[in-house]
Amino acid sequence: PGAGKGTQAKKVAALYGGPHLSPGDMFRDHFRRGTELGVRAKAFMDRGELVPDEIVVAMIEQRIAARDCAQGFILDGFPRTVAQAEALDQMLGRAGLPEPLVVHVKLDASLILRRLTGRRVCKVGGEIYNIYDRPPKTPNRCDHDSGELVQRDDDREEVIKERLAAYEEHTQPVVAYYRRRGLVQDLDGSGAPEEVTRALFAVIDREEGRGGHL
Ligand code: ADP
Repeated sequence: PGAGKGTQAKKVAALYGGPHLSPGDMFRDHFRRGTELGVRAKAFMDRGELVPDEIVVAMIEQRIAARDCAQGFILDGFPRTVAQAEALDQMLGRAGLPEPLVVHVKLDASLILRRLTGRRVCKVGGEIYNIYDRPPKTPNRCDHDSGELVQRDDDREEVIKERLAAYEEHTQPVVAYYRRRGLVQDLDGSGAPEEVTRALFAVIDREEGRGGHL
C-alpha cells in the first residue's frame, strides 16, 4: 500500500492499452453505487483488513471474462494473497494467457506513511494528489476539474498500520511465490512519479523484447 501502484498502473494502461483492474477501485465503485458487495467490502477495507479471497477472486474472475481482457490486462492490487495468486494462475491457464510480468514496487516504511497520510483523491475524476509532495494549485481542489479532494477512509493512520500488517502477513509471501518462478521485476518506488513511470516502462519494454509475458 502506498507504493504508487495505482498511479503507475494507470500510466501503463494508457500507454500499452488493456484494461486497468484494481479490486480496491472496483470495491469503492460498488460502495458508491450502494451494492451489497460494496457494503460488505467496505467493512473490511475500513479496518485495514483484506477482503476475503473468495469475494475478490470471484469479482476478478468475472471481470477477466469480459471481451476487453482477451489480450491481457493490468492488475493493480491483485493478487494480494498466495491463494489469490494460485487462483490467478488457473484463470490465466483457462484463458490461454501467458504467465504474468510481476512488478514489485519497493519503498521505505517512512515514505509509505507520508504518501498514505498525505494522499487526497479527486471526488470527480479520481486524480491523486499528495498534500506534502504533490499539492493541488488550489487547496482541496483538483487542478483538472476543480472537484473536491477527499481523504480515503482507510488512509487514516490507525488503519494504515493494519494495512501494512496485512501486507507483511499476506502479500509479502506473494512476492516470494512469483520470485521462485523468476517472474518478479523489482522497481524502486521512491522517486517522483514520472521517474518511476520511466523506469517501469523500461522494464516492460525490455520484457516485451524478450517475449513471453506480453
Ligand atoms: P492500497 O494498495 O493503497 O491499500 P487499494 O485501493 O489497492 O489501496 O486497496 C484498498 C483496500 O481494498 C485494501 O486495504 C483491502 O481491504 C481491499 N483490497 C484491495 N485489493 C484486494 C485484494 N486483492 N484482496 C483483498 N482485499 C483487497
